[in-house]
Amino acid sequence: MMTLQDVQNIFCVGRNYAEHAKELGNEVPDSPLLFTKPTNALATADGQTLSYPSDQGDIHHELEMVLKIGKPTDSHSVNDRVVEMALGIDLTLRDLQSKLKKKGHPWERAKGFRNSAILTPFWSFTSVEDIEQTTFTLKKNGETVQYGNSTQMLFNFQQLVDECEQAFGLHEGDIIFTGTPEGVGPISEGDHFTLFWGEEEKGSFTVAFNK
Ligand code: ZN
Repeated sequence: MMTLQDVQNIFCVGRNYAEHAKELGNEVPDSPLLFTKPTNALATADGQTLSYPSDQGDIHHELEMVLKIGKPTDSHSVNDRVVEMALGIDLTLRDLQSKLKKKGHPWERAKGFRNSAILTPFWSFTSVEDIEQTTFTLKKNGETVQYGNSTQMLFNFQQLVDECEQAFGLHEGDIIFTGTPEGVGPISEGDHFTLFWGEEEKGSFTVAFNK
């Protein structure tokens, strides 16, 4: 089983669900919108309390499926290249991101802050076809706030892996946050989040703000 220390590069996909693009007033992209996070942003959803800045505006949760690349293979098939998956939260300083977007500046300050890439433990990746059978869900204080299914993605796993490979190269230990379905929203002090794969709880964390 992979640990956070094994993670190499963190690639992320924006606007990969039409309903989410719509809720933020964004256009649907005609090729995958890619960005990265530093590994310093990683945190585990192991029940712990995670701290966030209180002075930079709203921080939104984005629930996502996360793919992990395995050992080199001659096959380009995503079923061979991806060995494990997890659920993750791509936390976003939304107000700051809006400011950066307006200025045409990079998003990293809004996407790469500490504890902004939260991961459940990884489990074995079975196949694209198998994963289509399962819905993933985020609950905030026991209430469902986001859920999705890989069949709703604008760009499928194969396209995302191919695009990351072409743009950056992909090596063992690289992970890909595959985009968020609709229902993103702000986190608040004391919020408790639980991440579910089907009916199975995969991880949880509680929010604290720096005083
Ligand atoms: Zn995201």
